[in-house]
Amino acid sequence: MSRLKKYDDTPYISYSGRVTFLSCHYRYWLHYDGHVPPPLVDDALGSVYGTAIGKVYEVFYRDELWRQKGLLDRLKALVPGIVEDILKQPKPGQVFRWRGDGPDQNPMGLYATPEDIILDVQGSIPKGLMTIRDQRLIGSETEVEHKLDSLIGGFLFGGRADVTMLTSYGKLRIILDGKGSRRRDKWVDKKQLEWYSMLYRERFGILPDRVAFVYWKFEPPVGIQWFEVTAAEIDELKQEVVQTMTHLVKMRSELPPKAGLPVVREIFKPNPSSDNCRFCPYADDSTCPEGFSVNEKAKAKVTVRENTADQR
Ligand code: SF4
Repeated sequence: MSRLKKYDDTPYISYSGRVTFLSCHYRYWLHYDGHVPPPLVDDALGSVYGTAIGKVYEVFYRDELWRQKGLLDRLKALVPGIVEDILKQPKPGQVFRWRGDGPDQNPMGLYATPEDIILDVQGSIPKGLMTIRDQRLIGSETEVEHKLDSLIGGFLFGGRADVTMLTSYGKLRIILDGKGSRRRDKWVDKKQLEWYSMLYRERFGILPDRVAFVYWKFEPPVGIQWFEVTAAEIDELKQEVVQTMTHLVKMRSELPPKAGLPVVREIFKPNPSSDNCRFCPYADDSTCPEGFSVNEKAKAKVTVRENTADQR
């Protein structure tokens, strides 16, 4: 079912959809409009830790576990079931490659067994709890996986904030987004928090006072990164997203029905670059020759570098 039909014909986009569209129109079309199954295997083991620790804290907030005794043990006891569920349900095209399963393994997921992941998640729970205590991230009106979808300019913009609340300390409206990354500086973008803030303002008529990424693998003070968003930033973003959607809808209208991929590529143009294509599951010779070629050239360069190093 297309996104358009799902939302009563109102053109829809999520934060990740917008990021994909801005980086490569063709990849956006393949994934979100064409629903083309990715031809390349996607090793998803590297994302299991982040998904699992996110679910642990989802239960923590949803069931208000901080009120209970033996909190750490309760949270640790959740982990085996959560990891087992994630490993049972890979998304289409995803596989889990364990350490030693051959080349092209996700470097973020070099676990040998499910037990390794369980221990990793359990081992980092105390760090997140320290950040929650240190920053007093407890409050009222708490919502987890808070659906903030809003209509703006005739388009539907989707987003689920991990946690929103009114803090007990200071009575601040905050939005938290949990990150499971091993590096604080990678794969995070303040725009994501601006996106949630924009939707929050649309729904509640007020901006959050503060927004933050919480890094579950880190202790305080670096386990959290606070941002403030301004009305001017959100106004600008609102304009930008309406422009993006207007552009996207126009492109869709130009695409003939049942167009083959070569025609799709003329309208939804590929944007090949090593950053965009390195982990793109569509970068094979028939689906995206442009991306395939970029990756082949990058591989050839690595081979030359390795051969030169061997000869020294
Ligand atoms: S391989 Fe590169 S150019 Fe092709 S769809 Fe993916 S990101 Fe776009």
